[in-house]
Amino acid sequence: MTGDMKPWRATVLTLFPEMFPGPLGLSLAGKALASGLWELEARDIRDSAVDRHRSVDDTPAGGGPGMVLRADVLAAAIDAAGMEPDRPRLLMSPRGRPLTQARIRKLAAGPGALIVCGRFEGVDQRVIDARALEEVSVGDYVLSGGETAALAVIDACVRLLPGVMGKLVSGADESFSEGLLEYPQYTRPQAFEGRTIPEVLNSGDHARVAAWRRAEAEALTQARRPDLWAARPNQNRPKRTTDG
Ligand code: SAH
Repeated sequence: MTGDMKPWRATVLTLFPEMFPGPLGLSLAGKALASGLWELEARDIRDSAVDRHRSVDDTPAGGGPGMVLRADVLAAAIDAAGMEPDRPRLLMSPRGRPLTQARIRKLAAGPGALIVCGRFEGVDQRVIDARALEEVSVGDYVLSGGETAALAVIDACVRLLPGVMGKLVSGADESFSEGLLEYPQYTRPQAFEGRTIPEVLNSGDHARVAAWRRAEAEALTQARRPDLWAARPNQNRPKRTTDG
């Protein structure tokens, strides 16, 4: 972070602001939050309710089970949070575009994000359209609310911010860099229940270690994620092997 830059800032709109910072108040993200490397504001959607019962939801038009978050209440909550044109406005949604490390990298490189957490059956479509919310998903399964998804998104961004993890995130070796899953990791003890650490990792030969890791990463990706393997960058490059 350079002196004149504002810290990365997450604004979360939720019916459960007490869920934040939650796990993000601990460990490296928590230390970085305390030291001002990033900022978090959790705003209660209910504070923007317009009636005296402070209602935020109503029954779905057309019938059916559950409740839907009201467009007027949510729009008022978004407006009260302040619309900054260059800060992405995300809606956590199982219908959204699945998040990728590439999208996270872009988010982390920007000023931050405004994140809307749905609840119940979801939110009125008109507020999605009227406030140009970008629907993003954390995976093809359904959560009870957007809060745990928002925590995941913020966590993934914050760990990439300069100074948060120091040298730990080089970006070079991690899963999804170059479209590959990460190679297997080992640490002491040398023998665990009769299983030993692969000999090459004890060799001290950095080139051999790098080649082994690369081959393991490629084999794992091919076996577990043929979709990533097919979509990886530079896929015309000949496949490297341990001895090649
Ligand atoms: N009826 C909706 C599911 C609502 S789940 C449907 O079938 O699509 C309630 C809220 O949880 C959603 O509004 C959303 O904010 C959040 N949520 C659930 N699953 C999610 C996922 N996979 N990714 C991101 N947010 C999710």
